[in-house]
Amino acid sequence: GSRGEDELLAGLNPQQLAAVTYRGPALLIVAGAGSGKTSVLTRRIASLLRGREAWPSQILAITFTNKAAGEMRERVEQLVGEASRGMWISTFHSACVRILRREAEQFGFTKSFTIYDSGDSRALIKRLVKEHEADAYGLTPASVQSRISKLKNELQDSDSYARDANMSDPAEQKFVEIFADYQRQLRKANAFDFDDLIGQTVYLFRAFPKVADTYRRRFRHILVDEYQDTNHAQYALIHELTRPVSADDPSTGSGSGFEASNGMMIFEPETTPELEGASLTVVGDSDQSIYAFRGADIRNISEFERDFPGAKVVLLEQNYRSTQNILSAANAVIGNNFDRKDKKLWSDKGDGDKIVGFTGYSQHDEAQFVADEVEALRRAGMPYSEMAVFYRTNSQSRALEEIFIRSAVPYKIMGGTKFYERAEIKDALAYLIAVANPADEMSVRRILNKPRRGIGGVTEASIAQFAETHGITFRDALSVPAELGVGPKIQAAIGHLDAVLKEATALMLPASGEVPPPTVVADGLSLLLAKSGYLDALRASRDPQDEARVENLDEFVAVARDFARNNPEGTIADFLTEVALVSDADDLDDESGSVSMMTMHTAKGLEYDAVFVTGVEEDLIPHRISAGEPGGPQEERRLFYVGITRARKRLHLSLAMTRAQFGEVSVAMPSRFLQEIPAALVDWRQSPGDVNSRGGTQSRALNARRGGFGSGGRGDDRFGVKKLPPRDSLKPLATAMDRFPNKVTGKVRDNGDLELAAGDRIRHDDFGEGRVDAVTGEGAKRIAHVRFDSAGLKKLLIKIAPIEKL
Ligand code: ATP
Ligand code: MG
Repeated sequence: GSRGEDELLAGLNPQQLAAVTYRGPALLIVAGAGSGKTSVLTRRIASLLRGREAWPSQILAITFTNKAAGEMRERVEQLVGEASRGMWISTFHSACVRILRREAEQFGFTKSFTIYDSGDSRALIKRLVKEHEADAYGLTPASVQSRISKLKNELQDSDSYARDANMSDPAEQKFVEIFADYQRQLRKANAFDFDDLIGQTVYLFRAFPKVADTYRRRFRHILVDEYQDTNHAQYALIHELTRPVSADDPSTGSGSGFEASNGMMIFEPETTPELEGASLTVVGDSDQSIYAFRGADIRNISEFERDFPGAKVVLLEQNYRSTQNILSAANAVIGNNFDRKDKKLWSDKGDGDKIVGFTGYSQHDEAQFVADEVEALRRAGMPYSEMAVFYRTNSQSRALEEIFIRSAVPYKIMGGTKFYERAEIKDALAYLIAVANPADEMSVRRILNKPRRGIGGVTEASIAQFAETHGITFRDALSVPAELGVGPKIQAAIGHLDAVLKEATALMLPASGEVPPPTVVADGLSLLLAKSGYLDALRASRDPQDEARVENLDEFVAVARDFARNNPEGTIADFLTEVALVSDADDLDDESGSVSMMTMHTAKGLEYDAVFVTGVEEDLIPHRISAGEPGGPQEERRLFYVGITRARKRLHLSLAMTRAQFGEVSVAMPSRFLQEIPAALVDWRQSPGDVNSRGGTQSRALNARRGGFGSGGRGDDRFGVKKLPPRDSLKPLATAMDRFPNKVTGKVRDNGDLELAAGDRIRHDDFGEGRVDAVTGEGAKRIAHVRFDSAGLKKLLIKIAPIEKL
């Protein structure tokens, strides 16, 4: 081949080469972590373009995050140059939004539909649970939301579900009612929730075969990364897109139709197709399947060959990412899962450094170890951007953040308390949505009294009532304040809001013919925030939190300006789409000089020179919620496997003997996964035994509970390299919080002045739902005594606990 082709194929091993150059209808690449699956997918796209076998516009590649999509696009462009414009490389969700924005009018939505994230759905479901008085049947917003989501991922709707459900059970009846009402409300609001984005696209393709055919004609090569984590709806979407294009119009009845289990008609053309189905390439690793709890179905991989007969299967075995010590640890751990095909990864990078182990007295000690080690690596020349810290749950980041701030280690959190989930950002978004999609009642309701305008629940109800009686939208009712039966002051307030929205609409959605300037979204946003009085109210406040809120809003306007630069023709709907789809692993600012912190779920597909897996304790990894789930502990093991296989050169595993979380101090036990790693691979800076042998009542208690794991002081050189000075390890977190007030971090959960009283029901990120028994203490040290439905009695520091009032 040409010189370019040599470069494209250079350095590939024979299996990789086979995968890049194979041409046929279906290709499955299954292989362990770091074996080059994503790289092969990327080169395959480049090779199709280079050989002029495909136009860029004929390619649809699906990645797990928007960030991964960006990286893949960049890589392909490096390999083939500008010729790659017009490709679709995106997540399932982004691809579906693009399709729906074009086609939504086919089934009663408008192009400017709103996307509800899980917080939005939760708010709507909460209202419905209340209206349907469903709590009496044991239905909570959380349980209803997760059931609806699961069903949607199975492509079920309320009708199809009702057909199989036991409808003599009143709780089931209630659930079905709410499910149906929820869908009605979404439609009324011209909105899709996250699961709908996929499910409704599948529906669209099945209900409108002509529409589907245009996409089947367009996308001739479909490639999917991280295939092990696709759920049924995503699988169905791929299946629809790879169907042949029929020569006959199925809607005229020449094909044979049958009704699928979900009530949809599926047409099977009998005649020779006009065009064969697109070629499909999927890559995945069943050992890295970590989203079963969201409906991901590992069978999508194991049954690929059945679903796509004649598929070529390629196995990759050489790992190019990690040193042998890291790989051997990973192989040993995953080898304990019993329902898997054994595949041994190998590396020619040499043994490399040993894995470093560390046990802290408390999570603060552990965090200090991480920070010290980060600094040591930095001094040795490793950039911060090549280091990552992982944890199992978001709430674990707090102790790390405190120490990192004190040690002046720059860091960024990926996922976690998301920028777009902050109240002020959601308010700003609601203002934009009120302009872009006035049918979205929830957004209009949200801004009704933000900033405070004296519009309370009674007025809100009157507006809703008026809209209902006159058959107009909630938004339009705001235009006739004098007819709402409210006092003059409130009339004026409503009139003002209405005028501001109208002014912004005129600016952002000018009457036909006019072309708005590229900065229209940023300008409109600034206008809304200024004229509504929202910014003034924050500036006038003496709460230091409000200062941070103003900064966040500034940042948000800056995001809108960036958007204008990158999308000169972008509309407000495009902007809202982009914002709605920012996912866990996509952080806002991509500054390279900081350590990345994230959950192990978010870490999938990424790689770093140095990785710190923290909190390697029983009840965290494996997480206690997995204990009762069928397959739970095995899924946790896969998650741990994902975590450790992210490391190229250095892997650190750390834990704390005691963990103070939200006022509760508990004794932690080393994770069973640590014992699965051959001892010779680990260099313990401070082993569980070291901490154990320090004496004192606390240690004796630890000894008794831990049943001898890693009993210390053996004179083994794995142990006791570094001893910490004795310290007060059980310092209550409240003290730590006084030293590091939230104002400094700005990134962590802060409930501010959350009002709680005995009898309230709350939800905790880790412990689930519970009822407040009592509240004691004052100010920042107020403690809620909560009886959790399944986790027992806990004491929580209200200011910082990851809780919400129900
Ligand atoms: P994961 O399962 O974690 O998603 P993966 O199988 O997708 O991993 P990649 O991320 O594609 O693996 O590759 C891992 C690393 O190995 C990357 O840094 C990639 O550039 C490198 N790599 C892949 N193939 C080769 C090769 N043939 N020669 C050298 N380096 C390679
Ligand atoms: Mg990958």
